[in-house]
Amino acid sequence: MSGSGPDLEISRAWLVDPAAGREGPGEIVVIDGILETVTWLDGGDADGVGPDGVVVAPGFVDLHVHLREPGNEDAETVASGLAAAAHGGFTTVCAMPNTTPALDEPGVLAGVRAAAEASGSPVELLAIGAVSLGRGGEQLAALGELADAGVVGFSDDGAPVRSASILRSALAYAGALGLPIVEHAEEQSLTDGAEANDGFVATVLGLRGWPAAAEEMAVARDIAILGDVLRDLPSARLHLTHLSTAGSLDLVRRAKATGLPVTCDVTPHHLALTDEWIAGARRWAWDASGDPWSDDAITSSPYDPSLRVNPPLRAPDDAAACLAALLDGTADAIATDHAPHTEVDKVVEFGQAVNGISGLETALGVVLAAVDAGRLPLLRAIEALTTGPASVLGGRSRRAGSVGLVEGAPADLVVFDRSERWTVTADGLASRGKNTPLLGMALPGRVLVTLAAGRIAYVAPEA
Ligand SMILES: [Zn+2]
Repeated sequence: MSGSGPDLEISRAWLVDPAAGREGPGEIVVIDGILETVTWLDGGDADGVGPDGVVVAPGFVDLHVHLREPGNEDAETVASGLAAAAHGGFTTVCAMPNTTPALDEPGVLAGVRAAAEASGSPVELLAIGAVSLGRGGEQLAALGELADAGVVGFSDDGAPVRSASILRSALAYAGALGLPIVEHAEEQSLTDGAEANDGFVATVLGLRGWPAAAEEMAVARDIAILGDVLRDLPSARLHLTHLSTAGSLDLVRRAKATGLPVTCDVTPHHLALTDEWIAGARRWAWDASGDPWSDDAITSSPYDPSLRVNPPLRAPDDAAACLAALLDGTADAIATDHAPHTEVDKVVEFGQAVNGISGLETALGVVLAAVDAGRLPLLRAIEALTTGPASVLGGRSRRAGSVGLVEGAPADLVVFDRSERWTVTADGLASRGKNTPLLGMALPGRVLVTLAAGRIAYVAPEA
């Protein structure tokens, strides 16, 4: 070969191309980093090729990751975060601005970009800028300067945009810039000191309850303000991230039905895990009842601090609502909210642990568990990891409109084997954040190869 890109030929695999709304038996050929041919097989050629084996899909897009650089490189660096992304099949990630200092001015973005460049990773790093200066919630950041520097949206994530009036201004300014506000919906006066979803499990465990109303009030507020701003600025857009309750998703469902430009995502952990896990159960949400004690479902110690997350793991009905929202299009995307932490911050008493799950590398396995259980069609799952989040980004990715298996474009894809299970171990995670409740569990769908921008981002050791 003349160039320096990789060659790859995958024969008789299951291709999933959500951009074309198509899946089926096929073959791909990558030459020198370019996806030269995508061939769909039929008739006898397709015999024996099913969706349960090797799958080829476009590289995944994650709207919500925390990379911790600058400021907390012990928990994650840009380089380790991009390696984790590649291991998880993600080729585009959006970094949240809650670093130290916050990404509230172009200089911080330049530093993050330099770190991405120095890492050598071909995974695309996009940045979400802060809404308020220092994420302090008091003064609007220089949104125009951040937009000029290339951020793809604005958020004070880690926290909500506390002031309704700042949110109103931000939706208007960001709308004028053609960018979304990405909102972490939480009414903090209801969650101060809260530890776990307000419900039966928290009551039995003696943990302070985190009410659904805290999220739903914030979602209602945000949608109301959006409706107001739209009268002056029809380009205003709101994206609600990591929604976790049936009520929140219902508010979005109704807002969408009236034509409001609101989008949302759900996380793998909120659709597949429940608060039962804090009690020590380890069954998937669709097998859960909400009372793991009377079901004899306890298999681990209670109060595992790796389960502390914001918003908290909810009851089985809420997890089912996350899946239903994906199925009917209320949820546009699956986003990981990858939140790596050091052991010092995480291996402590449940109520003292910081919030967050290291999620980039387990997202595919968790989502495939839902697919395996018949709760989510494979094509819809891949859409929610690719074209769904890409549409929220509105083309602000180097892949622009081509998040699909596009012949002639630089290869940007993931190859995984649904028939192979792999065990999650601390050493096996590329992320510095080993804080996941899935350690020791076997997940379906081992990633074999990830190609990004025509280059190798990840190859499994024995692939
Ligand atoms: Zn958040």
